[in-house]
Amino acid sequence: MAARKPLLRIPYTDVFAVPRIVPRNATTPAAAVAALGAFMTAPSPHGLPSSTVVLTGAGLSVASGLADYRGENGTYRVNKTYRPIYFHEFLASHEARKRYWARSFLGWTTLHKALPNTSHYALRDLGRLGYVHSVITQNVDSFHHTAHPDVPSTVELHGYLRATVCTTCGNEYDRDAFQSELSRLNPAWAAFLADAIAAGAFEPKTDPTTGAPAPRSPASLSSMRGIRTNPDGDVDLPNAPYTTFRYPPCEHCLAHPPVAEDGTKRTVEVDQDGAWQLPRQISSTESGAMVKCPGILKPAVIMFGESISPAVKQAAEAAVDGAGRLLVLATSLATYSAWRLAKRAKDRGMPIAIVNMGGVRGEDVFFAELDGRQPGSEGVRIEMPTDTVLPPLVEELHRIAPKGAYERVGGVLGAGQVDPALFRDMLS
Ligand SMILES: [Zn+2]
Repeated sequence: MAARKPLLRIPYTDVFAVPRIVPRNATTPAAAVAALGAFMTAPSPHGLPSSTVVLTGAGLSVASGLADYRGENGTYRVNKTYRPIYFHEFLASHEARKRYWARSFLGWTTLHKALPNTSHYALRDLGRLGYVHSVITQNVDSFHHTAHPDVPSTVELHGYLRATVCTTCGNEYDRDAFQSELSRLNPAWAAFLADAIAAGAFEPKTDPTTGAPAPRSPASLSSMRGIRTNPDGDVDLPNAPYTTFRYPPCEHCLAHPPVAEDGTKRTVEVDQDGAWQLPRQISSTESGAMVKCPGILKPAVIMFGESISPAVKQAAEAAVDGAGRLLVLATSLATYSAWRLAKRAKDRGMPIAIVNMGGVRGEDVFFAELDGRQPGSEGVRIEMPTDTVLPPLVEELHRIAPKGAYERVGGVLGAGQVDPALFRDMLS
């Protein structure tokens, strides 16, 4: 069997060409919703299943107050020098880990307080209506997990920030409890973070969806205002004294020193307060050897340069193969791991709809044979925020075919039954 290349997560910072809108008239919210309605309700070609698989990206969380990568206020556009940490750097360098965890420490409070938005709840409702069984997301913010824990099911392609994972034993730990440990080990940083939050430093300067100046509270008049939390949950703070930051080790590896291949125990070394420290016999230049440095925790996300696990890769492919059409939301498909799923759908003959602000990798190929006059049943390309079109799409689908939709999935709610919670989130 030929060796398969590992599926690495690699950042791609180009901005793609302006899209061709399909159907041609889908430039108003009403026409866009009608086109997506035609897309979701058309019979699937080639005897494919009737359901739609959804693939989401960072743009979906913009309305929750997080930055995206390539949008108008995206991380790559606003901060040209932004460079995410790579997995090999994280493993190799104690200093790189200090820097990573310091930035993550500052970003966590904002991320942890952020909530799913109407787009996530619209996907929950499309699941309840029977149109969507699976969501594949590139986002690590856990919003899908919160908004629809069961239906539709979610494949988190790039992992999640809600946990840390040990690079030696694989145990996972709750990220919020880890935050408390970081506070304890770094009291000066914790005081700085508390002051920054009190001064409104993490409140956006502008409304994330409209771009209008955000309403100001007196406390937020600080010049610190507008510190941005990146999609990976970290914060950029140039010239911060990262080297003073301390982080805890894996509790399991600390209590039960892992045994190396040569049979020797690899004790996790900690300082007087329990912070991870470099084993004494190891020089900082060779600190990358994981066997020599056990008990290092990393976020449970696929870092850039890290491989996606075969199980997650297979789950994502199964989600595509189990559906008859693909709806791509708020992503430019710049990462190969996401683009190849859209390519897989295309190769299976699945109609594709894309809702994204700005161009999408390979979309000219995906839509090459698509007639701009068809109503949306064969494919859709819309350039609008997802929260503009998804809630009215749910309303439209509910209006035109609620009963059939329920029956199609064997009655998630039971035929004719309507969940009163269905529209709560879009009305509030
Ligand atoms: Zn461990």
